[in-house]
This record gives sequence, structure tokens and C-alpha cells, in this order.
Amino acid sequence: MGATASTATSAERGGPAETPSGPVHILWINAGLSCDGDSVSLTAAMQPSIEEIVTGALPGLPEIAVHWPLIDFECGPVQGADNFVEWFFKADRGELEPFVLVVEGSIPNERIKPEGYWCGFGDDPATGQPITTSEWLDRLAPKATAVVAIGTCATYGGIHAMAGNPTGAMGVPDYLGWEWKSKAGLPIVCVPGCPIQPDNFSETLLYLLYQLAGSAPMIPLDDKLRPSWLFGATVHEGCDRGGYYEQGQFAENYGEPECLVRLGCWGPVVKCNVPKRGWINGVGGCPNVGGICIACTMPGFPDKFMPFMDEPPGAKVSVTASSAYGAAIRRLRSFTGKTVDKEPKWRQTGKKLTTGYQPPW
Ligand code: SF4
Ligand code: SF4
Repeated sequence: MGATASTATSAERGGPAETPSGPVHILWINAGLSCDGDSVSLTAAMQPSIEEIVTGALPGLPEIAVHWPLIDFECGPVQGADNFVEWFFKADRGELEPFVLVVEGSIPNERIKPEGYWCGFGDDPATGQPITTSEWLDRLAPKATAVVAIGTCATYGGIHAMAGNPTGAMGVPDYLGWEWKSKAGLPIVCVPGCPIQPDNFSETLLYLLYQLAGSAPMIPLDDKLRPSWLFGATVHEGCDRGGYYEQGQFAENYGEPECLVRLGCWGPVVKCNVPKRGWINGVGGCPNVGGICIACTMPGFPDKFMPFMDEPPGAKVSVTASSAYGAAIRRLRSFTGKTVDKEPKWRQTGKKLTTGYQPPW
């Protein structure tokens, strides 16, 4: 019995898994409908960096073998030397144990058209025909120890799943089912974002690897299958401009420092930690640096948040209330501010020096 079977039993109990005996393979399918922006974003991860993960530089990690198109040198043809796709065939034949399947891009519905295919990855040697992305999911999901959806396209469908799209695109939970569990007992793990905040994904992957190594309990996910410690707070709750909102100070134009809600920021109702975490090494974070939050992490993105740049429908009430309250509070704070912005009288801070120091002028 391999490590995976042991993992299943342990994970089902909600406890830590047992250490895999061989390398943990990470099979990365970026052949969904996407721009590959999540792969690109991940190159900026710092906590941990992708280099630290793939080289096993962090203590306690199991041995890892990453098969990711962005960094892989194997690029030969099917059934030739240096065949990248062969790793996926091996997994399909049950020869890779254990492996984590990472899916980037939304999954089109191949059943809603009379011919052709929407997207695929590699050719089937038996038929010479492309293997569609959904067929890869059919083949590999039952054999994977964990399935991770990276980015809003793979998690909830994203831009490709907008109303009126011809492909029937959807996220991995809509394809496999929201109650789906891997053979190891893990639900689909969703890390949304368009693109992902790089550390959100590298940290989640790291958590899963520690779980497989038996060093971490079952990954905590919310009801939309997001890591709960990353997506439990709103953009607004972590925004640098929150003080302006509370004081009823709102930007009328881009480039102004105040709260951006009147310019279309959806931050008060969007679950995302980017303003707290920044984009790269703690720097950036949409509203912090002047961009409205367009809710790119949310399951309803983009349809429910359009048109972008308009004041969100619920904002009128809160902006009106905050403007009235904020005007009064700002006035009171200006009195207090003047009082506390100088030293106490008992420190004798008059113009006449009493210290004995002789100024040169
Ligand atoms: S800019 Fe957006 S997230 Fe920041 S305080 Fe204003 S409404 Fe909230
Ligand atoms: S702050 Fe808003 S727009 Fe920026 S990454 Fe988070 S959800 Fe997306």
C-alpha cells in the first residue's frame, strides 16, 4: 500500500497524513481557458518563493517533483524524448504516487457543440486526437491525492464564464461537483484571484505539502473551498484607505488619496487579503495604490460587479451615512488633534532656553 492510501485514512479522520515514501509529484495543467496569468504571478511569490518549494529548501517538506509548463525543460513531442506530457500519461496509468493536480484556467463544456473541441493538452497516441482538458480531469482527478484550482477561472469560471459565452466555461468545483473529495479525502482546494496573489497560492501549496508530510492537520476551507485564513476578511477591512471611509472622505478622481468607493470600489463586500498582504513582497495591494477593487476573487466575478467604475449599488447609503458622521467626527478630531500635537506645558518649551546651551547666532 503506498503512502497515498495511508494518507486517505488519516485525512478522512481530519488528522495529519503520513509521510509519502517517494516524491510528491505536482502535475500542472494550464490548458484550461486562461491567460496563464496565475503561473506568471506565481513567479513573484516570496513567502515562500516557488524556488524554495521546487528545490525542497524548506525544512520538513517531502521530496517534490514539479511538472509545470512554465519552468519545465521537457518539451519534446508525445512519445519522443523529453516528453512533458508523458508525466500525465504516467499518472493516468497509476504510475505516479502520490501526485497533486493543479488546474489553471476554466473548464469548457465539450458537450454543447456538434464537433471540434474548446481546449486540450497533448494528443492521445491511440487516436492521434487531442485530449481535451475535461478528459484530463476525468482521467486524473480520481487518481490525485489533492486537486487544487488556481485563479478565478479555475475556481469559479471567471471571465470565460461570463453570461453569453459560447463555451459553457466553469470552474473545477462546478465540473467535478462541490462535494467532490479526492481519494485521500481532501475537498477541491480553491485559490481565487485574477490573477492569484502569489503568496496566497505558494502558501496554500506549502500547507498541502506539509499536510501530506504529516506535519499539518486538514486544510481549513470555507464554504467556497477557499483557505479560510486567507479569505476570511474583506478588502475594506485591510485597506490603507479605510480611515478615509470612516471619516467620510471620498476621492472624486483617480490619483487622490481618499477612499475610492465613489469611483467603483467593491472592497467592503469582497473577500480578499491583497490590501493587507500586498502584491510582491508586501508592496502594492489594489486600493492601497489607487486601483478600485473589482472583486476579482469572488465567485460572481465579473458579471455581478459590472459595470466596473460605477459606484456600487449599496454604497450610496453607507457613503451618505459616513459623510454625515465623518464630517462631525473630523471636526471633533481637529480639536483633539491640535491639543495632542504639542508638548505638555510642564516641559517649559518656551522660546527662552533654560538649558545653558549657547546658540551660535
Ligand atoms: S478604497 Fe475600497 S476598500 Fe478601501 S476603504 Fe475605500 S471602499 Fe474600502
Ligand atoms: S483587492 Fe479586489 S481587485 Fe484587487 S486582487 Fe483583491 S479582489 Fe481582486
